[in-house]
Amino acid sequence: MILMKDVHKTYANGVVALSGINVDIKQGEFVYIVGPSGAGKSTFIRLMFREVKPSNGTIRINDINVNDLKERKVPYLRRNIGVVYQDFKLLPKLSVYENVAFALEVIEESPAVIRKRVMEVLDLVGLKNKARFLPDELSGGEQQRVSIARAIVNHPKIVIADEPTGNLDPETSREIMKIFEEINDRGTTILMATHSKEIVNTFRKRVIAIEDGLIVRDEHRGDYGYES
Ligand code: ADP
Ligand code: ADP
Repeated sequence: MILMKDVHKTYANGVVALSGINVDIKQGEFVYIVGPSGAGKSTFIRLMFREVKPSNGTIRINDINVNDLKERKVPYLRRNIGVVYQDFKLLPKLSVYENVAFALEVIEESPAVIRKRVMEVLDLVGLKNKARFLPDELSGGEQQRVSIARAIVNHPKIVIADEPTGNLDPETSREIMKIFEEINDRGTTILMATHSKEIVNTFRKRVIAIEDGLIVRDEHRGDYGYES
């Protein structure tokens, strides 16, 4: 489902971010991406939804060849991928409901379908009773739950999370992890870049470690492997 062969990325300014990535991730896996700052984790993640283009190598996502994908086809790729960020990236003037509904309005789903799907995902993340709230009326953990609801409302096959618990306390982080596990149990592939030793060592999953643009470790039920 996610296949990379000998992927390199050199940015326009000459920085080599990735220098030969090979990876094969199956449908339904839960994978942590760990490694020091500047190692290439964000670049690796951003290649998957074509926010970054590879300089060399092959990338296939759900049998879509991402390398040759025409610009106008990129939205089709992104419809299969939900993205969750450390800083939530919610639209501040829209309610919780509207933030989640937005992705479905863009693809012109019917109002009845939108209402049903939005309430289903808000229920899944435990925020049905806060549908009318604005983002800044919520705690950080609640805001992250809204952004998870937004990421999954399309039923994507893959959810990519870049440091999703980076701004959250340990207890809230564990609650967020339980939501990701539930989404994973329903068959969604999850890729999560994280610096949280506690999360990785508590909720054991596949661990891919990237250092200096290369995968240096890839372990089933691995541990975090760094001091902090
Ligand atoms: P392109 O799609 O044209 O290759 P880039 O992704 O290389 O564009 O980004 C454009 C410019 O933004 C880079 O040349 C660089 O100067 C700057 N830039 C953005 N993020 C970073 C970063 N994290 N470190 C260094 N430079 C950056
Ligand atoms: P990580 O997520 O592990 O911190 P990144 O993928 O963000 O690593 O960065 C890998 C390397 O690429 C770093 O040296 C970073 O400064 C550089 N980099 C990231 N984005 C850009 C960019 N748009 N333009 C130029 N250099 C970049």
